[in-house]
Amino acid sequence: VVRVRFAPSPTGNLHVGGARTALFNYLFARSKGGKFVLRIEDTDLERSTKESEEAVLQDLSWLGLQWDEGPDVGGDYGPYRQSERNTLYKQYAEELLNSGHAYRCFCSSEELEKMKEIAKLKQLPPVYSGKWASASDEEVQEELEKGTPFTYRFRVPKEGSLKINDLIRGEVSWNFDTLGDFVIMRSNGQPVYNFCVTVDDATMAISHVIRAEEHLPNTLRQALIYKALGFQMPYFAHVSLILAPDRSKLSKRHGATSVGQFQEFGYLPQAMVNYLALLGWGDGTENEFFTLEQLVEKFSIERVNKSGAIFDATKFRWMNGQHLRLLPQEELTKLLGHHWKSTGILKESEGLFVEEAVQLLKDAVDLITDSEKALSDFLSYPLNETLSSSEAKPILEDSISEFADSLLAAYDSGELFDALDQGKSGWQKWVKSFGKLVKRKGKSLFMPLRVLLTGKLHGPDIGGSVVLLRTFGTGDIVGSQVG
Ligand code: GLU
Repeated sequence: VVRVRFAPSPTGNLHVGGARTALFNYLFARSKGGKFVLRIEDTDLERSTKESEEAVLQDLSWLGLQWDEGPDVGGDYGPYRQSERNTLYKQYAEELLNSGHAYRCFCSSEELEKMKEIAKLKQLPPVYSGKWASASDEEVQEELEKGTPFTYRFRVPKEGSLKINDLIRGEVSWNFDTLGDFVIMRSNGQPVYNFCVTVDDATMAISHVIRAEEHLPNTLRQALIYKALGFQMPYFAHVSLILAPDRSKLSKRHGATSVGQFQEFGYLPQAMVNYLALLGWGDGTENEFFTLEQLVEKFSIERVNKSGAIFDATKFRWMNGQHLRLLPQEELTKLLGHHWKSTGILKESEGLFVEEAVQLLKDAVDLITDSEKALSDFLSYPLNETLSSSEAKPILEDSISEFADSLLAAYDSGELFDALDQGKSGWQKWVKSFGKLVKRKGKSLFMPLRVLLTGKLHGPDIGGSVVLLRTFGTGDIVGSQVG
């Protein structure tokens, strides 16, 4: 049975990298009919906070990555917070002590400091000298009687190497010689991180450990502990870093990196899931659009790339626009309408308008939050500004004032709006006959028509725009200033 886990440390917000790790675990579990476990790694009591834990759970839920077991939903392998598993760590530390895989180390911190200095002078790696590794029972007994504080150290084999077959990186091996005997339990009884992770993964029956590349160096220590405790090792898959476009590690200085920020900016969870999946994975085709369900169907860990993936904010934004436009019309109307009302740009009573505005403006919107500017731009009538732009020059050649007069006449007589009341075909019919009247067609008809009716050179459908502008626009329409 496949059992995977996402194991965040609740010391901050969920970032892009963590979210991608969670997603890959989720996809792997779902694609194999396995279980997705959420474990909170709060051994660092000083930095861990309840708020952070809640925020992480909230962000995962927003992304739609529902876990099967975890601190809030329970499960057969709980508790799911490391801070609640101390008895278990203690028990396994004793077991290692009894089997001789660990020993008590009574070195003081000054002694350990000195050891490091000596190693440095000798140009040796700063590893534990092994002072208490071979102490006699009497020596140990003596210190215990004195009440000297002690740690539990893991006894690393003096020689040899270890090899794993990482599902993403292939064969990875380590020599033991640079790894000194390491602490698994501090003198205050606090278990050390690598030890907790191993005990947890083993006792939670985790079959595959899928995590960030930065944890690869921990794997050697963890693998040694697995062996010493006689646990079966899981498969490991270490996912590459997420990089900024300059190929440095993605960090806050590159802009937004946390899931919560993207949510605030108006990104959709489905777009975020889609984009995160592409950071190091692809289905082998040109296709880049996937729903979560499709990702579950297509995902395979073998297709995850070993090299770093570049986080391209522009592409993510674009992709969000694509997902936005894929939403059912009512849903998009609700989303944008809600945003417009909450920002005060639209009043509650203008509900009817929303549906049409959304249809007209959706192509100009990549983020929900873009829609505010899209709408206010749309409702403005910046004719004078437009007329003075160089792009407008060729459109407004000599006979433009004649054109404007005819248009104004159609406007004043109500003819233009009668046509618009008859819908799209009414509008098209009117444009045709107006074209005949002013002896223009194609671009030379539509461009000045657009400029004079909407005040702008570009925009959505002219007829639709006029209807909305007439009702809700802030300014004059039909360029009465021209002429
Ligand atoms: N708690 C670790 C982190 O947040 C994850 C450790 C692991 O996946 O083994 O980076």
